[in-house]
Amino acid sequence: MKKRILSILLTLCMVLMLVPTTAFAEENYMITQNFKYGTRTYDGTDPQTSPYQFVIPAGGSFGLATIEDCSPYKLVGWKESVSGTVYPPYAEIQNLQSDLTFDAVYQVQGGLAIKIDGFMPGNTPNDCTYTFESTIPGVTFDEKDIKYLRWKILWAGQWEPINETEAFEAGTSYRFEISLKNNGLELVPATTANGIAPMYSQVVSNNGVPYAINMEFELGTPVAPTLAITVDNFEVGKTPADLKYSFASTNLDVTFSEEDIQYISWDKYVFEVERYKDIAETDVFEAGVRYRCRIQMDNNGLEQEPAVTMNGNTPKHCTIMTKDDKPVGIEIACELGTPAPAALTISGPDVVCAEQGYEFSATASEGAEISYFHYRCGEYGGDTGWDRTDGGVCYGTVPASEYGDADSMVLTVYGTAANGKPATATKTVQILKEHIFVDGVCGCGAKPEYTITYDGGADFGLWMDVKTHGVDLTLAGKGFYREGLVHTGWMGSDGVFYELGGVYSTDADVTLYPVYDQLITLNVPFTTTVKLGGDAAPGETTFDLALIGSSAGDMDTSDVTVSGSVTTNGAGDYDGELTITGPSQQLWHMLSEGAFVQQVDGGEDGWTYDDTVWGLLLDANPVAYAVSDDAAAAEYTVYVVPTTVDEFGNYGIDWEAIDWENLQSEDMHFTNIYAKSTTEPGTPKTGDNSNFALWLALFAVSAAGVIGAGVYSRRRRSTK
Ligand SMILES: [Zn+2]
Repeated sequence: MKKRILSILLTLCMVLMLVPTTAFAEENYMITQNFKYGTRTYDGTDPQTSPYQFVIPAGGSFGLATIEDCSPYKLVGWKESVSGTVYPPYAEIQNLQSDLTFDAVYQVQGGLAIKIDGFMPGNTPNDCTYTFESTIPGVTFDEKDIKYLRWKILWAGQWEPINETEAFEAGTSYRFEISLKNNGLELVPATTANGIAPMYSQVVSNNGVPYAINMEFELGTPVAPTLAITVDNFEVGKTPADLKYSFASTNLDVTFSEEDIQYISWDKYVFEVERYKDIAETDVFEAGVRYRCRIQMDNNGLEQEPAVTMNGNTPKHCTIMTKDDKPVGIEIACELGTPAPAALTISGPDVVCAEQGYEFSATASEGAEISYFHYRCGEYGGDTGWDRTDGGVCYGTVPASEYGDADSMVLTVYGTAANGKPATATKTVQILKEHIFVDGVCGCGAKPEYTITYDGGADFGLWMDVKTHGVDLTLAGKGFYREGLVHTGWMGSDGVFYELGGVYSTDADVTLYPVYDQLITLNVPFTTTVKLGGDAAPGETTFDLALIGSSAGDMDTSDVTVSGSVTTNGAGDYDGELTITGPSQQLWHMLSEGAFVQQVDGGEDGWTYDDTVWGLLLDANPVAYAVSDDAAAAEYTVYVVPTTVDEFGNYGIDWEAIDWENLQSEDMHFTNIYAKSTTEPGTPKTGDNSNFALWLALFAVSAAGVIGAGVYSRRRRSTK
């Protein structure tokens, strides 16, 4: 039993311990890394020289590391010698099962560009020059490094050598073989000739010593030098000043730009004279017209004119200009045909009335797009809204309120052309302060003249007048006469009441109808008493009453007549009547808030005139614009009411003192005194007395003036 247990234990020991010991301890593999240039390193540490060898246990893994300090070469990878697999630097090899050998694979850093000038039709290999541009660290090449050159032509399916004086032919392919000194390179650098990679390239050695690099290139067909001039914006609506010129050259040693342009002019073909004629820088290219561009440029060292095109057209004329047998420029004249349709166009009137919004439309040609519109009026501007219709036409309006004081507006549409380049179109619009009358009306609605019609009805013919736009018109005065009525104003078809002879300033047609008022007569009785102050009796004497003011103020009372006089003959009471006749409304204006009556100081010798001022009041409006109401000639009572006088001598109705139940405060009466006596002849009058009488007279007149100048007026609060 014990033996068996021991043997199991031994077996276990062998399985658990002895087997691993033999696997790891006894099976190791050798790794060899060969490298010709530089040192092996892992992350720049511990540089090792070639060959570098190390041992890895079976199933183990390791990293390949990299090579440094190998200029002008660089490590591309590690080539495993059995499988041929090239591993990148730092690749990790896992589960190693055999010895492995890796050889470093190198590549030349940088490259070599060979430029062959003169490979063009008509030239020979002898005309060609070769320049070398090397970016290989520490290695340069020049023409002296050329060991030999050979050119071959594809002829009848075979590549045949050509000699150095055989001209290159257009349309035929050529190969170019070159052998360069290796200049220390043991590997072939990345090389191009005129941008073309070689068909083959190899380093050639003599007894294992590299001494040359041989390469062969297939260059294709020889290409003549070309200069393509692109003229942008050559489109309808643009001008020569809008054009942009750009230059692209091939196979030409020099480049051109807009700065090389010495002179440009544009001609358009005129059918009538069958030749081209000059146009100005600001002349607009028109649709369907053929144009020619003449351009002079610096030759930039060229002695032979290149094959020039302008927008794909071949010039009719293209030569090198010379001065004293030296080339000084290139002269080109090229017909460009008709301009392209404008990418964007704005349409609208050239002038607009300052009171009218500017309506415009815009279109984009096929493939072009409209983005937005901008207007500028003087120093102010902004974007304006627009709508697109199904037809692709855009419509917009710049409101007249945006014009400000500007005399013109520049409207610009922004967008893109079919080729994706930004495109614009502009339109300059003159803003007129005057209206633009077309068929008798401006776009803003104004007309040059307006018709004023006076329509008095069937009994009268129509009167016509013409108002000029912007000029006030003085309306007709009183013109229609009807029995018992007075023409007092005009009622317009516009709903406005106009005074006779008033001002009409609206720029619009109007019909004016006469407004009539009824003539009415108001009677106010009065009594004049004559008293004697002396013993002499006065003869027949007439006393007159007058209105010295009324509540009409500035209102028209021209149709009102007032009369009131009484003739006396000696002492006694005499009845008189003040008669006021006029249109009802004029009377209402005068009497609704009071008119004032005073005797006229006749200034007759010996008389002292009663200067009492009486107030008169009409308490109901007689007729409201009575045109046809003949029955309205009713009785209207004028009441005699108390007056007040203010500190300025202005009379007014004493509203506080009025008794509304009994308006007539007292009857109007005047008492005049005749003061003469039948004195003996020769009795001198006292100067004082006569002076006093004169003073009284003057006072009365001046008081009347003051009173007439302003009448105290107060709105009546209530009639009851
Ligand atoms: Zn207008």
